[in-house]
Amino acid sequence: MNTKAPSESLAADLAVVRQYLDQAEQPRALSSTEQSDYKRQIVELMAQKNAKLVAHYYTDPVLQELAEASGGFVGDSLEMARFGKECDAGILVVAGVRFMGESAKILSPDKKVLMPTLEATCSLDIACPIDEFAPFCDAHPERTVVVYANTSAAVKARADWVVTSSIAVDVVEHLMAQGEKVLWAPDRHLGAYIEKTTGADMLLWDAACIVHEEFKARGLRDMKAMYPEAAVLAHPESPAGVLELADFVGSTTQIIKAAQTVPQKQVIVATDQGIFHKLRQLAPDKELIVAPTAGNDATCRSCASCPWMGMNTLPAMLESLQHESNEIHVAEELAVKAMVPLQRMLNFASEQRLKVQGKA
Ligand code: SF4
Repeated sequence: MNTKAPSESLAADLAVVRQYLDQAEQPRALSSTEQSDYKRQIVELMAQKNAKLVAHYYTDPVLQELAEASGGFVGDSLEMARFGKECDAGILVVAGVRFMGESAKILSPDKKVLMPTLEATCSLDIACPIDEFAPFCDAHPERTVVVYANTSAAVKARADWVVTSSIAVDVVEHLMAQGEKVLWAPDRHLGAYIEKTTGADMLLWDAACIVHEEFKARGLRDMKAMYPEAAVLAHPESPAGVLELADFVGSTTQIIKAAQTVPQKQVIVATDQGIFHKLRQLAPDKELIVAPTAGNDATCRSCASCPWMGMNTLPAMLESLQHESNEIHVAEELAVKAMVPLQRMLNFASEQRLKVQGKA
């Protein structure tokens, strides 16, 4: 694998993440009466303000239900970006992590984008700061820069392409067909998976998702022995050893589709537990099992559950809507630059969809 560790500071990055999470406040559990009250107020305010809620599959099921019940949307980051751009709301409330709010703002500059919290970030975004990433790109001018959506607006603005996990392999295959070599950032597991799948010449940044990094091949092997008939569905941010044991590797949306279509009744899932809400709705006949996490080198404090996604709560959402606070701003010059690789992905995705429909 053609891996370049841009910083010998991955351990330091993880230490920053751990320190941050240790200090972060845990959301208080709400009673069902409190939940109903918050939901009613949020729905009323969204109607008054022509706002739509866009939520990621990893957020609290309560928020996913609220998004769907109020005419908003639940999906992966590509679908969230597309919905936010295409809907006619004046305000988008993005329940997810900060880069999702930034992507929504870049693609919809005329909409006001609010988030329940601006503290919700991502270990991949943290571990790929622009002041380290830009010189890395400058040192490899012969490579096409492809970055994962889980990056800051500044990193996106430095890229040729932005991709989500649902489309990353297709984009790199497309680039490879044109004889291009790729510089990939930031997730090293996803990068290695794309490299292995496509055979492309890739130089990889060295960062990881703290949630998916926790899935362990040894534990999964033991679990497969307990459930020999089960299908294993894994997100490509998981380590290579886990992916090698998987029957299917794909994005959150692709995992949901796979759970519905695989013949096995038991399904072991290696991604954030938030996805189980949608899985239970769409694959009710399947026995869903969380893939094993952690071990002696565990770094998460809520394994298989993203702590930043967990910061999206009903009280925080209500407060943001009431005061139109936690607004996402992206400097215009940066937004214009970041829009180019983001729009390139959306155009590519539309062309792919047309091709697929043409084949159907
Ligand atoms: S689950 Fe991982 S990749 Fe997704 S937001 Fe959380 S830390 Fe980032």
